[in-house]
Amino acid sequence: MGENTDQSQKNITGFRPPEDFARNAIVNDPDIYGRAEDDPESFWEENANGIEWYRKWDNVLEWEPPLSKWFIGGKLNACYNCLDVNLKQRADKTAIIWEGESGDIRKYTYKELLEEVSSFANVLKGTGVKKGDIVTIYLPMIPEVVIAMLACARIGAPHSVVFAAFSGESLATRIGNANSKVLITCDGYSRRGKVVEQKNKVDEGIRSCGLLDKVIVMKHYGNDVSMTEGRDVWWHEVMKDSESSCEPEVMDSEDMLFLMYTSGTTGKPKGIVHTTGGYMVATHTTTKFVFDLKEDDIYWCTADCGWITGHSYLVYGPLSNGTTLVMYEGAPDYPDKDRYWDIIERHKVTILYTAPTAIRTFMKWGPSWPQMHDISTLRLIGSVGEPINPGAWLWYHENIGLGKCPVVDTWWQTETGMIMISPLPGITTTKPGSATMPMPGIKAAVLDEKGNEVPPGQDGYLAILKPWPSMVRTVFGNEERFIETYWSKWDNKTYFAGDGAKRDEDGYFWIIGRVDDVIKVSGHRIGSAEFESILVSHPSVAEAGVVGKEDELRGEVIYSYVTLKSGVEESDELKSELTSYAAKNIGPFARPKQIIFSDDLPKTRSGKIMRRVLKAIANNKDPGDVTTLQDPAVVENLKEKTRILD
Ligand code: ATP
Ligand code: MG
Repeated sequence: MGENTDQSQKNITGFRPPEDFARNAIVNDPDIYGRAEDDPESFWEENANGIEWYRKWDNVLEWEPPLSKWFIGGKLNACYNCLDVNLKQRADKTAIIWEGESGDIRKYTYKELLEEVSSFANVLKGTGVKKGDIVTIYLPMIPEVVIAMLACARIGAPHSVVFAAFSGESLATRIGNANSKVLITCDGYSRRGKVVEQKNKVDEGIRSCGLLDKVIVMKHYGNDVSMTEGRDVWWHEVMKDSESSCEPEVMDSEDMLFLMYTSGTTGKPKGIVHTTGGYMVATHTTTKFVFDLKEDDIYWCTADCGWITGHSYLVYGPLSNGTTLVMYEGAPDYPDKDRYWDIIERHKVTILYTAPTAIRTFMKWGPSWPQMHDISTLRLIGSVGEPINPGAWLWYHENIGLGKCPVVDTWWQTETGMIMISPLPGITTTKPGSATMPMPGIKAAVLDEKGNEVPPGQDGYLAILKPWPSMVRTVFGNEERFIETYWSKWDNKTYFAGDGAKRDEDGYFWIIGRVDDVIKVSGHRIGSAEFESILVSHPSVAEAGVVGKEDELRGEVIYSYVTLKSGVEESDELKSELTSYAAKNIGPFARPKQIIFSDDLPKTRSGKIMRRVLKAIANNKDPGDVTTLQDPAVVENLKEKTRILD
């Protein structure tokens, strides 16, 4: 038995899976870890049978580090596996329950969804899209984003979904990088009751790039738009006479399924390439295992399709498992702060998958909001996107999971395509703040600079030691950057995740955060995320962003940007209290030089704090590209507050 086995868990203190949950769980035999570890290729091969293939593979894996191919020679179609395969048993089962911000509800059965997707696939073919052409999708969370993605997959055209809230400029960069000729967008959509004029953003953004041949515009909000003759067409018009059946294209395992640009938390976005066979096997399997999906579950992943989570765990994983999923268009506080809990109550959601930034926001708003609703249908809750601090984990477990739901804290990345480190909810004893163990079939470790495993309790770099089916194949158009970024740290065959981590005595993984977010104070190295987690554990603090400011004497000094909980007053006393609190909990060297109160922090659209921007502000430098920020106005406000201190 290897170290991934959880035989040792008998003695671990933490949260055991509730007995009846464990008894009924899809995965409830801890042996799965040992079997997968002894022979990962057989493990993946066995799970590949959960997917329907036109032709089975000749070999499971071809590994020429750092290049990998999976299920070589296999032929399949991802859309077929999400829709057609469900027709036999689930034709009239609801696939999507969509709720608009305004309260509109639309539902699609599997049969209806297949018809819509096939019609749209024919529209795409009609505009000249061929197998291999990259189609850009720039839609908010409406059913059409899923329809468009699956239609692309059906005809073998890789999709590149650009987050709807990004600027037209960010859109244009990505269209240009992908050399995409067709764009799918909408007139506008509602955010906190106000219109976002999506089509206008498109017109402004692409004016200069001039690459597009066709823009297909879904009429959603009803705002006025201008249509360019010969280029722009309405979705409803081209769909009117479209044939509602379309043969799926036979795709090779290694044909590109989609391109996904990373969020750009750390700089220029990279086009991450995912292929078809390995990705479908990996997402299908992990969705079933981690979320314990059963036939009558109502599953809600709050991620946007503009992120990898929206690809793997809202579209491909859940639909290929025949799940009923909930999709919500709007903000969590519209019309009020109980919107999520209202949705859970009305649609009887059983599984919720969301992000730490949302959970911390709910904490800030307080438990009275979920308490207004019956959310007792929930049986499993998950988290992804950032380290979840133990306080937020416990709050989530108690107030949303009502103390009875297993919590799955899932670590993974755009590049990994699938969840890599996570509890299996029927087996794993969880510890608040730890993503626990690598998934069966995944070999992860914490290494030092030279590539040696570090002892328990010590910080190091998170690494993946063996290939896995949904691993990134390349950075689009830039193989060099692919090798340089992910493979060159050690030996060209160990994957460098870019995150810091440590393991405890039980072998559990604790993700610290990005390695480039490390502050060096008088020779000590402090992880920003670790520091923030301490500040957030103070009862007055809702969120914190911590960065280093260059200092002649000490290398760097610590600047902490802090958002307080609702109802807490800003004061100098609180500043000194927080300063002592940090020093007491981390060490005297960790005394923040400045604490700056702010109502908001610079965040990516997926809710992560953009520390490179905070760092530029603290150091009086140009923050660079801020077009992917949720609210670029925050930057000016923080600059002002920081300048007063200098
Ligand atoms: P970019 O790579 O463009 O800078 P990004 O890393 O934020 O952006 P994603 O691929 O969406 O883009 O996010 C993956 C990262 O999110 C991980 O590398 C890790 O830093 C963080 N992360 C995700 N899930 C977890 C988790 N459960 N615990 C800790 N960190 C997590
Ligand atoms: Mg990243």
